[in-house]
Amino acid sequence: MEQNKLGDGWLWRPRLDGSWKADPVLGRLLPSLLWLRQVPDESCDGTVLVWIESGSSQIPLIWEKQGIYHTSIDLDKAINGLLHEHYRPELVPPITTILPFNYSLLPNFIKGTAEKILSLFEKPKPILFPNEPYDTAADFLIKLSERLDGKKAAFKWPENKKYAISLSHDVDTAWVLKHQNMLEQIHAIEDRYGFRSTWFLVADYLDDPRLDDALNWLSHLEHELASHGDNHDVRHAFTNDEERARRWNIIIRQARRFSMKGFRSAWLIRTNRFFDDIDRLNIFEYDSSVPNTYPHGVVNSNSGCASCMPFFIRPNIVEIPVLWFLEILNKEQDKWNLLKKMIEYVRTIGGIFTLAMHPQPHHSANPRMLDLYDRVLNVLAEDNDAWQCLQADAARAFRKQASSHE
Ligand SMILES: [Zn+2]
Repeated sequence: MEQNKLGDGWLWRPRLDGSWKADPVLGRLLPSLLWLRQVPDESCDGTVLVWIESGSSQIPLIWEKQGIYHTSIDLDKAINGLLHEHYRPELVPPITTILPFNYSLLPNFIKGTAEKILSLFEKPKPILFPNEPYDTAADFLIKLSERLDGKKAAFKWPENKKYAISLSHDVDTAWVLKHQNMLEQIHAIEDRYGFRSTWFLVADYLDDPRLDDALNWLSHLEHELASHGDNHDVRHAFTNDEERARRWNIIIRQARRFSMKGFRSAWLIRTNRFFDDIDRLNIFEYDSSVPNTYPHGVVNSNSGCASCMPFFIRPNIVEIPVLWFLEILNKEQDKWNLLKKMIEYVRTIGGIFTLAMHPQPHHSANPRMLDLYDRVLNVLAEDNDAWQCLQADAARAFRKQASSHE
């Protein structure tokens, strides 16, 4: 990267035209998204890099003048606000919480159809932020802040690697743990490309002694076991203090039993008090429930941290953002190009590319999807500059470096 260039790969190109005022999120977001330090001045004699278009005029937010960058954004507040998703209201319970049963316990063959039906009720709204399929807003501001403040050191991955890649499985039901053959196929694909992966497991099925062999087998091959909540419904984060504590106890018991250091909430449901809980529990080292971008997710939430960097979501908890689900790739062919662009972006930023998949027959545990998985890992493994790691390793590397800078 040239000294005075911000670089193309990670430049944030927000779609901030005049319509932002009418957008329910951006209308609230701006100026709070940008945490403006001063009212931006329309007359600016540098090269404007980021601006808001208001009618026919452009209001500069970040500009360059004689090799020096200037901004009217309060960078620390803006970075924090994005990473912690302060730009949006708290998540609301999704439609599946009002079903009179736990949706996750439906047989797999019904779920595929049920997902389609439920999606009819949760119509996607047009969304300006965060961008699909990934958003670079927070990373752009992090890099800008490193550039403006010469003292801030960029995070570096171990072994001199430029960026990290980690694979994970959301094991929503015990199905794959009862099908050793499938487990071995997934392991064989990962092993072929030198990967190990993180398996997010649901506490309620872990007491079944028939699963012990599969779990031991995974641990023995140095895959990571982590927690995916207690029963995979969507209610936990929305319940009262007493009920949350009761359910955490179920999770904690299994987390201790299997030395789990990571947590990913079912359906990526997350609320502020949920993160406070995780911090207080003193069990987990990291969380991986925050997507980079999830505009059309479980609750039409316009949510995401717009980053591919690990960060502290609470003082004791490292967040490893989720970047991509294998099942998304299945839907459209042109997503291949996006996947490659996304990896290039993570590489430029020096972030972590986290791929998640669901090892169930109606998701990715079938021959067609395993073939796709193989092809994706083939792409991911191409680059020697990538650190292939477990999510727990990534979190530890980040924590170690943060504490050495204190
Ligand atoms: Zn799940």
